[in-house]
Amino acid sequence: MTAQFPVKDDFLLSPLLAKQRAAFMRDGPPSAAQRRADLRKLKRALLARRAQFEAAISKDFGYRSAYETRIMEVIPIIQAINFLRRNVAKWMRPEKRRISLHFIPGRARVHYQPLGVVGIVSPWNYPLSLAIMPLLSAIAAGNRAILKPSELTVATSELLKSTLRDIFPEDQVAVVTGGPELGAAFSRLPFDHLVFTGSAQVGRMVMREAAENLVPVTLELGGKSPTLIGPDADIETAASSVAYGKLANAGQTCIAPDYVLVHEKDAASFVASYDATAAAFYPDGAADKNYSAIASARHYTRLRRLLEDAENKGARVIQTGPQTAVLTRKLPSAIVLNVTDDMAIMREEIFGPILPIVTYRTLDEAIAYINHRPRPLALYYFGNSSEDRLKVLTRTTSGNVTVNDTLMHYVQNALPFGGVGMSGMGAYHGIEGFKSLSHAKGVFEQSRWNLGGLLRPPFNRTSDWVIRYLLR
Ligand code: NAD
Repeated sequence: MTAQFPVKDDFLLSPLLAKQRAAFMRDGPPSAAQRRADLRKLKRALLARRAQFEAAISKDFGYRSAYETRIMEVIPIIQAINFLRRNVAKWMRPEKRRISLHFIPGRARVHYQPLGVVGIVSPWNYPLSLAIMPLLSAIAAGNRAILKPSELTVATSELLKSTLRDIFPEDQVAVVTGGPELGAAFSRLPFDHLVFTGSAQVGRMVMREAAENLVPVTLELGGKSPTLIGPDADIETAASSVAYGKLANAGQTCIAPDYVLVHEKDAASFVASYDATAAAFYPDGAADKNYSAIASARHYTRLRRLLEDAENKGARVIQTGPQTAVLTRKLPSAIVLNVTDDMAIMREEIFGPILPIVTYRTLDEAIAYINHRPRPLALYYFGNSSEDRLKVLTRTTSGNVTVNDTLMHYVQNALPFGGVGMSGMGAYHGIEGFKSLSHAKGVFEQSRWNLGGLLRPPFNRTSDWVIRYLLR
């Protein structure tokens, strides 16, 4: 258990943590049956309130289609719950490990033990799933949890709070709501593990606060995720997949393709195909009923400024899809050509429906472009040559990769999800989520009769023989 560091607590967070920790100590680790039952209870509660969550998220965003919430948030949660329920009992079993000859017949095993109380801080862009997915890993690993969802999605965060309060006692799962000040106080608590999803800027602060108590952190951050369209890629398929990944949730996705690297011979046909797909997906352009609004005025203004800055510095902005009258905070999809490194659009994570296009002449040049920038959360590669694919996979480092599509690695329940370098540290989902929120305790059981005595004084000729054997 983490040593308590004095916390200035204006939000009464410490008593809540103390309550959960006391309950954890009192009850011990939950059985597999209990974890499965808790996951099922959560699944039922979310399905029963699905329409309410869809409405709350749409209200918070200014507009988001119920389909988008259902497909991008609810389905991944339900699928992850089903996967965890199927596997958790197996993962909980102690793992047998080999021992050296001179320890036979002792036994070595790894026991996966819950850490205790996990803190979860989540962002606004997928306000339901990015709060719930870490909670699923926490429950599967037998922990208790306190969640701090985003203050920008008030309706969703309140609904999340009441939903979890209805099904879990406060000493098992609790939600606290508030802004950055509460977030900072939250990060200062001596949790047994802290999972933070959000920006690198805030992630840095969270890690600094957590360091005071030596609380281990998982940081799920963002960044500029590149899409590399290989010289032999099918351009239409690639453009369609990129348009899907970029325009879902109007680009407000941490793993959205941020910019595209395309061979100069294919740039024009890529732009034409992207434009055609945007029009096919959203026939009414930004006014389309399936196209999301930008969640806040601040974010909307930031995106407008990114476009202005790029145009002022010589970029060409092409609005894609039909040009229709646009409601408040609905930003039309755009492609930006002739981008340069001094433009804010090529320095900041875009987090909106704007796609810069960078052209290259050789695959090595494209790989070097990616490697000159911070390591991204996701990388997308399109192409058919297995040699090129292998080169891209081995010569670039990113949190995850999807080949010949976008976003889809996120919904593979058996794959770890997380960043590397500036895009984060640690991973969750699947067995990695279970393991990162468990303590892998190595246990060696000595047997009554063993050879260990030969290596303790007084030594004899058999000791020398054993020593020679071990030094061979
Ligand atoms: P953010 O960093 O502004 O906020 C995230 C959370 O941190 C919110 O709950 C917020 O209240 C809290 N917070 C704010 N200040 C804090 C402080 N000083 N101490 C502790 N907590 C504090 O991020 P955001 O704007 O909500 O989300 C967008 C960012 O999140 C983007 O960079 C995106 O790429 C990233 N993101 C990453 C993932 C992922 O899975 N890796 C998923 C979604 C979003």
